[in-house]
Amino acid sequence: MATGLHELGHSAFGLADEYDYASTCNESGRDFHPAVEPAAANVTVNSSFSTLKWGHLVDASTPMPTSTRDDCSVCEGPGLSPTTPGTVGAYTGGNHYHCGVFRGEYDCKMRAHGEPFCAVCQERINAALFPFFP
Ligand SMILES: [Zn+2]
Repeated sequence: MATGLHELGHSAFGLADEYDYASTCNESGRDFHPAVEPAAANVTVNSSFSTLKWGHLVDASTPMPTSTRDDCSVCEGPGLSPTTPGTVGAYTGGNHYHCGVFRGEYDCKMRAHGEPFCAVCQERINAALFPFFP
């Protein structure tokens, strides 16, 4: 079911993967995201608080970017959140690249199947489904 919901995130809501590799952590060509804004609602190349896609979900006290990467030649893989889980910000890595791209929370179902959807993805899902509610 968890995998099915992740795939539904792609097919029904246009969400991007929030993990930072395409197939394995040891592949090349995934160090820096192209400087082109992805269409998906849950990843961005912009970490500026004032123009961030999901900036309205970010507390003004949250550092931007919220996480950075010392070595962009390796993928991050699973790990411990540098912030309180559920903190929305701009975390480095996602959309199959290690650096130069940001996601809204440290963990999300679009990053790891066992996690719930992050607030950014939840907002996208709610917006897409709202017209169908009575
Ligand atoms: Zn998400």
